[in-house]
Amino acid sequence: MTLSDHPLLEVTGLTKTFPVRQSLLSRWRGQPRRAVQALTDVNLSVKRGETLGIVGESGCGKSTLARTLVRLYTADSGSVRYGGQDVLALSGAELRGYNRRVQMIFQDPYSSLNPRMTVGQVLREALGVHKMRPADQIPARVSELLSLVGLPAEAANRLPHEFSGGQRQRIGIARALALEPECLIADELVSALDVSVQAQVVNLLLELQERLNLTVLFVAHDLRLVRHLSHRVAVMYLGRVVEVASTEAAFEAPKHPYTQGLLAAAPTLDPGSRSLEPAISGELPSPLNVPSGCAFRTRCKSAFGRCATERPLLSDTGDGHMVACHLYSGAGPT
Ligand code: SF4
Repeated sequence: MTLSDHPLLEVTGLTKTFPVRQSLLSRWRGQPRRAVQALTDVNLSVKRGETLGIVGESGCGKSTLARTLVRLYTADSGSVRYGGQDVLALSGAELRGYNRRVQMIFQDPYSSLNPRMTVGQVLREALGVHKMRPADQIPARVSELLSLVGLPAEAANRLPHEFSGGQRQRIGIARALALEPECLIADELVSALDVSVQAQVVNLLLELQERLNLTVLFVAHDLRLVRHLSHRVAVMYLGRVVEVASTEAAFEAPKHPYTQGLLAAAPTLDPGSRSLEPAISGELPSPLNVPSGCAFRTRCKSAFGRCATERPLLSDTGDGHMVACHLYSGAGPT
């Protein structure tokens, strides 16, 4: 596996809001239209051949980020550069080329597989639309793709409903690989599967990533899976990236109070290490009403005056360990 020094994907200041439908009464009262703040000033970079895990509680914006990167959602502002190209400005053939090179795999492949098409037809269609192979080479390529994801060649003759959840996820991966992508964005790829099947699919992804030198964004709420798979980890909270570090640093020496709380709350096999005190107190605030200053301050045991007025920016605390927290930005609590 080769990790390039230059980022393949670079996200800067990415912001996305979803306007909320206004009731007649609130319009009549002249109240301002409200919006869900899904992504706020997100900054990230991913190197070629790297796997970046993106973690956070449900509603933290990680799936919105994934969908905005593949242009399923339109960003409000910010920039996404892929191999130097300005992704948010692409259209026509250039956008189709980007969408071929950057493939998204969804949590529920069943909903995106036509129930009346056999697996072979699904793969032949993917190969045909983008003219990936001459017609006479397509049957061999279909068998090759099925073998890559650990399915027998005769799977091509069966319909999606004849497969288990884990096998359907393999079909989803094969369809993505048909387009020979450079980058896979896996959004909660295995969340709906049993734990034993999860491990098989994650190991398959790991094997494919190394064999094909893929760049992978692995979006998940399960910290154990992210740790197993990722070179680096980005932690999100209420639409903001609060920490980015190597997997080892993020898990062994997390710096942001939210990451520390997430890890303390994660299931452990050692009953002696469990604390009865909740690691993160309070409810996740509504993304319609994000706290001022640091979004985490309403649940942070270390919060101090500055946290309510000033938004902490993601900055390097050494060795590329990025943290957005005033505890690390010079003027801490007095
Ligand atoms: Fe806690 Fe303040 Fe750091 Fe936010 S900036 S995580 S509130 S200490």
